[in-house]
Amino acid sequence: MRSPVTDYLGAVLRSCIDDGDEGEVATYIPELAAVDPDRFAVALCTIDGTVYAAGDAEHRFTIQSMSKPFAYALALADRGLEAVLEHVGVEPSGDAFNEISLEDNGRPRNPMINIGAITTHALTGPPDATAEESTARVIEGLSAFAGRQLEVDQQVYASERATSDRNMALAYLVRARGKLEDAPGDAVDGYTAQCSLVVDVRDLAVMAMTLAAGGRNPVTGEQVVPAWVCRQVLSVMATCGMYDAAGDWMSHVGMPAKSGVSGGVLASLPGQVGIGTFSPRLDRFGNSVRGVRACERLSSDMGLHLMQTPEVASHVLYGVVDPDDDGDRMREVKLQGVMHFAAAEVALRELERIPEGDEPIVLDLSRVSSANAVGRLMLREGVRRLERDGHAVRVDDPDGVLDD
Ligand code: GLU
Repeated sequence: MRSPVTDYLGAVLRSCIDDGDEGEVATYIPELAAVDPDRFAVALCTIDGTVYAAGDAEHRFTIQSMSKPFAYALALADRGLEAVLEHVGVEPSGDAFNEISLEDNGRPRNPMINIGAITTHALTGPPDATAEESTARVIEGLSAFAGRQLEVDQQVYASERATSDRNMALAYLVRARGKLEDAPGDAVDGYTAQCSLVVDVRDLAVMAMTLAAGGRNPVTGEQVVPAWVCRQVLSVMATCGMYDAAGDWMSHVGMPAKSGVSGGVLASLPGQVGIGTFSPRLDRFGNSVRGVRACERLSSDMGLHLMQTPEVASHVLYGVVDPDDDGDRMREVKLQGVMHFAAAEVALRELERIPEGDEPIVLDLSRVSSANAVGRLMLREGVRRLERDGHAVRVDDPDGVLDD
């Protein structure tokens, strides 16, 4: 059987093409201006590493600003949150991507604009890493996110480096404020190489899914960065990822995302899906017109908006068995689903109704699929309190969801 998902992606592309061809290809890096503006592709990666793609999925392009969240992830993993926050903030700037956006203490406002991304590049690798070692770390790290060895497009690199006066100026400014670890020329060299790594939409989807899967690449199985790093990166992507259109994007599409001037967009929905799109015509904010359109469509068709209220806690109780008078049947509380705060709270309320005494109780967790830390804590505490009240509690937990 041919997958309906692939056909669906093809239909999304066609409907986005039908909606027109507005936008302009970026020309400020000469080599980018040469691209065919009609190229269009989309890919989607699931949490188990299945990748679906449609359109010009084989077409390769430079990653540009979409490299920024991943370099930020590597810096966090290598240096820790505190050290990175000392150098780069997490506030949306409201300025263009290449603005001088510094806080009063000299920190670039966030790692998704150039001034913050150049600073972040120099924070990758161990604290004593040379500029070359940081760049090698970024190439190796982004390759691990993609699940294949990525290469620098030397022509784009040379083209951008020859026209990077503005990025050089930004680097000198942060260096003067004591926040840039490397010499400005070295940091801009490395950052430009980072932006010139070549990817396709499948790579973007896998990289996005790796962030959405707590740092584990779903294709290779490699834990690329720790889960806490992904939470930090996705938060910054949600507020600062789409240049000046971050608010518009978040309300319409509702996924942490990052775009780049080459025409790519990547979006990550935690625990569910990674998306990559490519179409070089950009809107006035620098985001791909058709890429944004495709993501809007995917989000609304597939219910991917992060802020959409999930179904919570309504079916936590699978069943409650009351004891009979002659003691043949024990009281049983049977739970189901995922035990997070809201679900465990419903369960605790059911346990609270049990009168004090020594009647035996069965807490049946055999239909509970998983529990997070607070869900585990709350259920364990419920059991502890029932026992304190005098009950003998038997917990049926065949899958060990209450184990750490
Ligand atoms: N390498 C580009 C620059 O620094 C990245 C810009 C972008 O994709 O937004 O100008």
